[in-house]
Amino acid sequence: MSHSSRKARAFLAFVAVVGLGFAVRGADDAHKNDVLKPGAEKPAHAIVLFDGADEEAHWTPANWPVKNGAMVSEKQDISTRDKFTDYQLHLEFNEPKLGPEFKSQDRGNSGVYQQGRYEIQVLDSYHNDTYAKGGCAAVYGVKDPLKNMAKPPGEWQTYDITFHAAKFKEGKKVENAHVTLYWNGELVQDNTEIPGPTGGGQPEADAPGPIRLQYHNHSVRFRNLWIVPIGGKTELATKDEAK
Ligand code: MG
Repeated sequence: MSHSSRKARAFLAFVAVVGLGFAVRGADDAHKNDVLKPGAEKPAHAIVLFDGADEEAHWTPANWPVKNGAMVSEKQDISTRDKFTDYQLHLEFNEPKLGPEFKSQDRGNSGVYQQGRYEIQVLDSYHNDTYAKGGCAAVYGVKDPLKNMAKPPGEWQTYDITFHAAKFKEGKKVENAHVTLYWNGELVQDNTEIPGPTGGGQPEADAPGPIRLQYHNHSVRFRNLWIVPIGGKTELATKDEAK
């Protein structure tokens, strides 16, 4: 066999193996390929959901106070005007410093609802016990984080979220939503399956949904929110169109 035909056969074998790899890869593995890793630079094509100043550009109602480049949770939940299906979402939050009389769920409670439907809990979980599946970085009521990465109140914390929406065929759900979450750089939700809307979430539907930030009696700060759609329908609403 000539040197070049041996190389050609080796190349064909390589192609076959790679092809087989793609063919047998299931949905769960496919979700791993587009996971947002902590510390990733904001891609040029990311949609900046909050730039530190202009809340109205992307949020409704846009009435959380903006202080020192952060939105502070107050009065009611706020949602993005834009709606998303599959996406990578980066955000940072900062828990308020509260007295010891504030305990369990009544300590820096907020949340990040995926598609307005499924809450990833935001809570001061730094030396603050609460019930199962209710602490910070839990998929609320569904799954606790793999570890507690809580920083003390007053320090900025990061969420890097990769979300895949539930899938529908002819109006029927055929696959549950999945979420992967890095909390302060550590993997704490690994392609967690979400069977349905969590408390206070919108019903599931074959339609994109907004990012919703929860107000739950405490002033939690949010900054540096950006999102990269990675699949499905995205409905963008500019400030002018939304009026
Ligand atoms: Mg909450």
